[in-house]
Amino acid sequence: TGEDLELELRLFDKKGDAKWHLGRAIAIRDEDNVITSWVSSVTEIQKLKEEEERKEGFLKLVSHELKTPVTSIKGYVQLLLSLLEREQEREKDNIPIKPYLNRIETQVERLIRLISEMLDLARIEQNEMELRKERFDLNKHVEDIVEDITYTNKEVEIDLNHLCECEVVADKDRIGQVIINFITNALKYSPEGNKVDVTVYQDGDEKVSVSVKDYGIGIEKKEIKKIFNRFYRVSSKSEGTYSGFGIGLYLSNEIIQRHNGKIFVDSELGEGSEFTFTIPLNLN
Ligand code: ADP
Repeated sequence: TGEDLELELRLFDKKGDAKWHLGRAIAIRDEDNVITSWVSSVTEIQKLKEEEERKEGFLKLVSHELKTPVTSIKGYVQLLLSLLEREQEREKDNIPIKPYLNRIETQVERLIRLISEMLDLARIEQNEMELRKERFDLNKHVEDIVEDITYTNKEVEIDLNHLCECEVVADKDRIGQVIINFITNALKYSPEGNKVDVTVYQDGDEKVSVSVKDYGIGIEKKEIKKIFNRFYRVSSKSEGTYSGFGIGLYLSNEIIQRHNGKIFVDSELGEGSEFTFTIPLNLN
């Protein structure tokens, strides 16, 4: 037909692995509009394709995750409304409003967390994440966070070690977000136990580290680099077991990089993982 051609196709490489390619061809014509030749190109787009698939999966997951708490909130609100109606009829019924309101609150918090993560993602993508730096006591901050987490999850056992006392100049909320992400992941990916070790220590003269160690499912060596990618989640038969969107570590990494710091992971499949971030002691 002489029309421009554009198609996505899978080609096999020497090893026999299929890789997505984008094939394009454009006809070159002479003065009489007769095709004399074709210019064509074939470009490997495997990485883009994988990213696209992850994005689609992410959207599916988000819609699903948004729907669950909203449905549950709706259910509890309807229940409370019908109980209140009955109360008006029979004045003295003892209505269990508090536990239902607590459940609604938990679900609303889940929604807020999800929405905030998505907003952060958009901010990073548009390079709009600003840091609000202040001087604060990192040990105290870690302590407060651990206290908050143990207050809401009574069954967890977080062992906190201070090997140094340090002040930093950093964005307190953002650093807190990274610590919370490390600890909640450590708990989430430890289905058999609830023990987590958190250590604050000095790294040379100029740096301070916070590490979070768990004794959970661990991560395969080949996956370690990838878990910092947007929307990346280690896929396995248990993928559906752990809820999440695969953006927490991506955000954490971006935050730490913006503080001129680094994240390290040490992990053994089936044994557990240790996530560490290091930031300069005196950022100005
Ligand atoms: P998610 O919301 O999926 O937990 P994250 O970005 O926080 O997203 O983590 C990305 C992936 O890294 C997780 O889906 C999980 O497969 C893996 N991961 C993160 N932390 C741990 C950990 N402590 N132990 C085992 N796997 C982990």
